[in-house]
Amino acid sequence: MSAQLELFPAAPPPSGSLRESERKLQALYDRMAGQFGLSPATIVVTARRATGGVIQYGSPHIIRISAFMSEEDRKETLLHETAHAICHERWGPCEGHSPRFWVIARRLGVTRKSAPETERLAAIRAANARYAYRCIGCAEEWTRRTPFGRARLCASCEGKGRPSRLVLVRRPKRTSR
Ligand SMILES: [Zn+2]
Ligand SMILES: [Zn+2]
Repeated sequence: MSAQLELFPAAPPPSGSLRESERKLQALYDRMAGQFGLSPATIVVTARRATGGVIQYGSPHIIRISAFMSEEDRKETLLHETAHAICHERWGPCEGHSPRFWVIARRLGVTRKSAPETERLAAIRAANARYAYRCIGCAEEWTRRTPFGRARLCASCEGKGRPSRLVLVRRPKRTSR
């Protein structure tokens, strides 16, 4: 298992500006909740998400939005999560990103289909990018940040006296979308 990089930023955005952003987004949600008859939600702008947002259904719902996005992208993310709240109200918790979810999201003003690639997310992706090798003998998987220059043997199999070759099974994904 490769270790995941912590999502804490090197320099978190100043908390005062996050509280201000939360107040605006909260006011926007409350307006839409009145309009669509939605359950209350608590809006949290957090430095623990690299991008995008998530809604946790409950009383109240909790909507978490990444602090690493522009104000405009935070607003769009809130609209996306509000579309989930509307679907939840109408059809229950399992609607996901269904066609009728996207119809509602578009009506609210959502234009993006996925969260923006923030600098923070790019840094985490780069740090987590791994080359994966599988042993053709024992099927053990090994990961490395840099590829092997030439053929390698599985250390585990070699230790047991039956040398076995590693084959490349995965490269780091390109981050372009
Ligand atoms: Zn979604
Ligand atoms: Zn092996």
